[in-house]
Amino acid sequence: MTMKNVIVKTQALKKYYQIGNQTVKALDGVDFEVAEREFVSIIGKSGSGKSTLLHMIGGLDTPSNGTVIVDGVNLETLNSDQLALFRRRKVGFIFQQYNLMPNMTVFENVEVGARLSHHPLDVEKVLQEVMLDDLFSQFPYQLSGGQQQRVAIARAIAKNPSILFCDEPTGALDEETGKTVLEVLQR
Ligand code: ADP
Ligand code: MG
Repeated sequence: MTMKNVIVKTQALKKYYQIGNQTVKALDGVDFEVAEREFVSIIGKSGSGKSTLLHMIGGLDTPSNGTVIVDGVNLETLNSDQLALFRRRKVGFIFQQYNLMPNMTVFENVEVGARLSHHPLDVEKVLQEVMLDDLFSQFPYQLSGGQQQRVAIARAIAKNPSILFCDEPTGALDEETGKTVLEVLQR
């Protein structure tokens, strides 16, 4: 038996949102582990807390209760500067909303991701992998939703982070393009 190295671990993780006098229990005691080199998919209906969970383990938002440990570090112990460094150096995000820079070209948007990293991947090659090599100098508004999503994916891949969080990364893609993109992510 080989020992698995746990890279992400949550314990009794809760996130409650207060809306007026109503409490929304987005996460209500999540215990969850991911091993190094594991490729995990979380499936659940809309509103079941998938994005909330990613935001907690990616250090974008803080839990109401419970623990998040990433690569041996309890995120609770980090101050805001350390947390910013954690996000910049350790994790990559593909957001459900693509969050592209509207005044930057496809190439420049992906370059932003690469610049955040000490060990980025080649921007041109990554854009080829997600089949955007003929759109380098286009702006986001000139692209379809699926093309914008692939720019966001290329940006996250170019950063080459230790952990890549993807929030519905193929939601805007047709089945065949989605398959190709999943293969790129897996590689
Ligand atoms: P999913 O990604 O699985 O569709 P979410 O994590 O986005 O689900 O949402 C889980 C629940 O938490 C939903 O009921 C949603 O309305 C609520 N929620 C998410 N973010 C917020 C927020 N910032 N403020 C209030 N409620 C929120
Ligand atoms: Mg979501």
